[in-house]
Amino acid sequence: MTIHASVSRDVPELSAELRDQFDTALTTAAARRERQLAELPPTHGDLVAAAHRESVTRILSEIRAAQERLATGRFGRCEGCAAAIPAERLDLRPWTTLCVACAPRA
Ligand SMILES: [Zn+2]
Repeated sequence: MTIHASVSRDVPELSAELRDQFDTALTTAAARRERQLAELPPTHGDLVAAAHRESVTRILSEIRAAQERLATGRFGRCEGCAAAIPAERLDLRPWTTLCVACAPRA
């Protein structure tokens, strides 16, 4: 087994423009989830509504975590294999923490 020591240290370089783009995308996504949560009806005894609320809450926390990574320069790195996550995938789901290869295993 070969160990690529440089891979995990290598933080992907985001241009200021891309950083701003992801920052805006994450802020918009977070605001949308917050609005969704505010508008969701009370979930007493309603399992479907409760599951929906839970799913929106989870995504919101994933978005918050991505904003934190963006602020600390760790954004865009797969948490499974440390490879850079392709920009196309980040465009689609900027809060993702895994590359395409690692996602199915999660
Ligand atoms: Zn990966």
